Amino acid sequence: MNIAHHQDLAETTGFPLRVSAAMAARLDMPGVAAQFLPDGRELVVSDLALVDPIGDEVHSPVKGLTHRYPDRVILRATLTCAVHCRFCFRREVVGDAGPLAEADLAAALDYVAARPAIREVILTGGDPLMLSERRIIGLLERIAAIPHVDLIRLHSRIPVVSPERITPALVKAMDLRPAVWMVLHVNHADEIGVEAEGALARLVKGGVPVLSQSVLLRGANDAPEILEALFRKLLMLRVKPYYLHHADLVRGGEHFRTTIAEGQAIMAALRGKISGTALPQYVIDLPGGHGKVPLGPDYLAAGPKGHRIRDPQGVWHDYADPDRGLLRAVKSG
Ligand code: SF4
Repeated sequence: MNIAHHQDLAETTGFPLRVSAAMAARLDMPGVAAQFLPDGRELVVSDLALVDPIGDEVHSPVKGLTHRYPDRVILRATLTCAVHCRFCFRREVVGDAGPLAEADLAAALDYVAARPAIREVILTGGDPLMLSERRIIGLLERIAAIPHVDLIRLHSRIPVVSPERITPALVKAMDLRPAVWMVLHVNHADEIGVEAEGALARLVKGGVPVLSQSVLLRGANDAPEILEALFRKLLMLRVKPYYLHHADLVRGGEHFRTTIAEGQAIMAALRGKISGTALPQYVIDLPGGHGKVPLGPDYLAAGPKGHRIRDPQGVWHDYADPDRGLLRAVKSG
């Protein structure tokens, strides 16, 4: 596909067009094109939209690091990406700034080293796997040298959008203590080509557990059958669907947002159809940095026996909690 004519529109929106070679080859697929090609609706900015939709900066004690929960931090190792996703909640900051400066990185690692309550470092960006192989390996080793860190999580789109970057040497370097987990960002089965399947196989065979996170995107994947195909494909590739994010309040991204009721209906339709192993949790990152919470759908209500619970077909059933008084009347043993 010739994408030259999309460049001008992208420049007008202030978020340049960027697609990797692997995604450029798949832009004739609507579920892929909708994620990467600019749309005139990006020029419509809702009053609700925020520059920092999930509040990265609200909880940022040092540059490049977010400390929202006691046991983990997010480290934005670089603000560069292989692709520019039009719905990205960091679209106001990603670009060509490159890696975090050494002084800032050292300050971030010192912050982690000084706080034994931090057990997990989440490397994100931009895309952390856009760093050179030498830098990624060096960063993993520096984090691994902090004794109280048990887990390093890499949040990346690279295994799918630039699978050639998942080299055997990189996978080997992930065989560490602390454990290295990958969380793959992927939104549509049509993004996953043969090369991506190979990259994911290298990770899994190399001992890296892989989870996935997806964003529910109106016009790209907001139908149960589209998400079913994605989640089934991921399971076949030994990737566990982990989160389905409600789209964030991104400036220029209002056309991607579904309603919460639409998202819940999709999840309810999937629950009746595919196994629990294939189902991610549907969540929202509360605007303002107040954290991530599940959105349901809700299967539980108050009822005459205490509770009413809805089955996957939509039928309600009465349910009671244990009768503690009855148990107390009988001597144990
Ligand atoms: S940070 Fe992730 S979602 Fe945002 S543009 Fe980069 S690759 Fe896409």
